[in-house]
Amino acid sequence: MSSEKPIYVTQPFLPPLEEFIPYLEKIWKSKVLTNNGPFHRELEQAQCRYLGIDYISLFANGTLALVTALQALRITGEVITTPYSFVATSHALLWNGIKPVFVDIEPDSFNLDPALIEAAITPQTTAIMPVHCYGRPCNIKAIQHIADNYNLKVIYDASHAFGVRDDGGSILRHGDLSVLSFHATKVFNTFEGGAIVCPDAKTKIRIDHLKNFGYVDELTVVAPGINGKMSEFNAALGLLQLKYVDQVLAERQRIDSAYRVKLDGILGIRFLPLPEVQSGNYAYFPILVGPEYPLSRDELNERLRQHNIYPRRYFYPLISEFPMYRGFPSARHDNLPMALEIASQVLCLPIYSELEEQEQERIAHLVSSFVQKTSI
Ligand SMILES: *Cc1c(COP(=O)(O)O)cnc(C)c1O
Repeated sequence: MSSEKPIYVTQPFLPPLEEFIPYLEKIWKSKVLTNNGPFHRELEQAQCRYLGIDYISLFANGTLALVTALQALRITGEVITTPYSFVATSHALLWNGIKPVFVDIEPDSFNLDPALIEAAITPQTTAIMPVHCYGRPCNIKAIQHIADNYNLKVIYDASHAFGVRDDGGSILRHGDLSVLSFHATKVFNTFEGGAIVCPDAKTKIRIDHLKNFGYVDELTVVAPGINGKMSEFNAALGLLQLKYVDQVLAERQRIDSAYRVKLDGILGIRFLPLPEVQSGNYAYFPILVGPEYPLSRDELNERLRQHNIYPRRYFYPLISEFPMYRGFPSARHDNLPMALEIASQVLCLPIYSELEEQEQERIAHLVSSFVQKTSI
């Protein structure tokens, strides 16, 4: 066992504590703790400015935002989605009594494969819920084309995609709605938090009702809404985090680039090319451990753990493998060959703004050292 300090797949960014104290003092003084308070309103405005979007509605977490996004558009029946994601993507469908229909992913982006969507559409299909996996944009044009042809809504699970921009601006402007997560493990965190990005004021008003029990005013309740509100504490954290987010993204970019150099040419190790975007967010650094590598993905994971390095197998198992999903016809293995293959090879290496150069060197050195040792 290594004596070196453990390196986890991610480490949340925390701004200097003393900078948070004034925010707390304001909360203590005003005694406004939640319910669309001043920090909540300020963070919504600040995020619209930072992200370059028109409307955002903050939530207590990303999962409640996903559940509410489906309700805001009155989605029912069947929704086409990816099995290669965090389980909350599909859970949001089950929470709404919607049947998930899994469609396989593309080999070069790990996102929903648009070429396979049409064959999965039935008269019950009402929406497509793709994920911008690892912050890499989906094939938005192709997905929108299908949605337009079949009159389907598109809700992007953009939990990984904070700050990602394409030629026209934020990728959150695409589809009918986009959902963000500000969980501790994400590139931008409010400890727990999330949001729905929407294109117009009317939709934002509906979302804001739904996240507040369906209340429109003191005496009017229009829907069986949930309590999805973000508190003033979390909103204040978000305001402070926003001051550091560019710095955090720049540091992630540096680490991403260094991995690409350090891991280049290791037999059997592949990684995705940089996405074709104006600016990415370097949220994850997935590698694929192929059959030419002397260890299996799980063996490599185990060896790294013995050296106090803790990568994660995002996303293994596939969502479609969990007991509440595996009975659906679309969960069958012959429907999802690519997702199964990627899930069996993927390993997300540690990436976060405070990962040190020597730590990254140690990780890359270990990954390459197993090749040399076993091939001699
Ligand atoms: C993190 C995540 C969620 C859930 O967000 P929470 O804020 O943890 O509820 C949903 N989908 C994806 C793809 C995620 O990575």
